[in-house]
Amino acid sequence: MQFRDLKSQYRALKPQMDAAIAAVLESSDYIAGDQVDELEQELKEYLGVRNCISCGNGTDALVLALKAWGVGAGDAVFVPDHTFFSSAESVAFVGATPVFADVSEDTFTVDADSLERVIQAVAAEGKLTPKAVVAVDLFGLPADYDRVLAVAERYGLYVLEDCAQGFGGTYHGRKAGTFGHISTTSFFPAKPLGCYGDGGAVFTDNDEWAALIRSMRVHGKGSSKYDNVRIGMNSRLDTIQAAVLQVKLRAFQDYELAKVNEAAARYTEALADCVKVPEVPEGCTSSWASYNILLKDEAQRDAVREHLQENGVPTMVYYPKGLHQQKVFADCCLYGETLPVTTDICKRTLAIPVSPYLSEEDQRKIIRLIREKTGADA
Ligand SMILES: *Cc1c(COP(=O)(O)O)cnc(C)c1O
Repeated sequence: MQFRDLKSQYRALKPQMDAAIAAVLESSDYIAGDQVDELEQELKEYLGVRNCISCGNGTDALVLALKAWGVGAGDAVFVPDHTFFSSAESVAFVGATPVFADVSEDTFTVDADSLERVIQAVAAEGKLTPKAVVAVDLFGLPADYDRVLAVAERYGLYVLEDCAQGFGGTYHGRKAGTFGHISTTSFFPAKPLGCYGDGGAVFTDNDEWAALIRSMRVHGKGSSKYDNVRIGMNSRLDTIQAAVLQVKLRAFQDYELAKVNEAAARYTEALADCVKVPEVPEGCTSSWASYNILLKDEAQRDAVREHLQENGVPTMVYYPKGLHQQKVFADCCLYGETLPVTTDICKRTLAIPVSPYLSEEDQRKIIRLIREKTGADA
């Protein structure tokens, strides 16, 4: 059994996929081929945004967004404590200071009250300039945007939506990837929409920022790659990856998103009485980048994990520690927040296999093993 079944996905898409890749090989336009422009157009239409700028990966996408705003030394950027490292790494990479806010144990996304408290604490101290909030759509579920956008607006902060795991989710009828002043995503293979390597994209309705980012992703180009008007980076989406994504975006819309939601609903139905299952608040939908259950305590989590592993079921722990517990951020000031929810759930959380291609037979086995080990059927 695979944790995220990319083999079955390739088998299902093989004829179209092989043809799409072969077309790039025939054209030999490996960089900036037509497929890149076409994909950007398709993503813009899917989300209903004015600009899509594809790039090398989701981490670069975050860096490009922060650079477009001129975020750097002396600036504070507020980041949830419970997320993948990149959400804060990008902030530190441009020279700014990440400041961590706690998350909700029901949804795993940022707790707007904790967020507001750290913003106030940074402002009161007066050393750093509050600049932006990184709102993360974790595990497929959009952040609580009614509240997050209101907090950001109250303090005049930009919102950078990290939609690396959120592509395909919705919040009150609006698609994830459209909530930030700038939003970013990743096409890492295991994300909701993934390619066959690294890839990413930036979305924004602001044409000026989009033009800046287009320049920065190709060596700060002016009129051409050989006319350089600023310091940028080399961060492009390969033509082959764009072609792969064109095929996958169709499958994603046609059936994958529906299928992964069916699988998640079966888990929730079958496990809600024995573990804490992830909540999807009223008016929201998730794209289920992963399905994360919370066990009673660390010992039960480890026992369930071992039981699954012994029976051939792969699992992951997203994430084993909060960002404030990462060595590189050990010196970051916590501004009065002790981040108890993140610290607690890191010890109890377990991600179990989910994908549009998870067979019902495999899923029944996973459910049975979890129920056995949590004593639900004793
Ligand atoms: C995967 C991920 C990223 C980074 O994407 P890459 O393409 O791997 O650079 C950023 N933020 C979150 C929340 C992610 O899950």
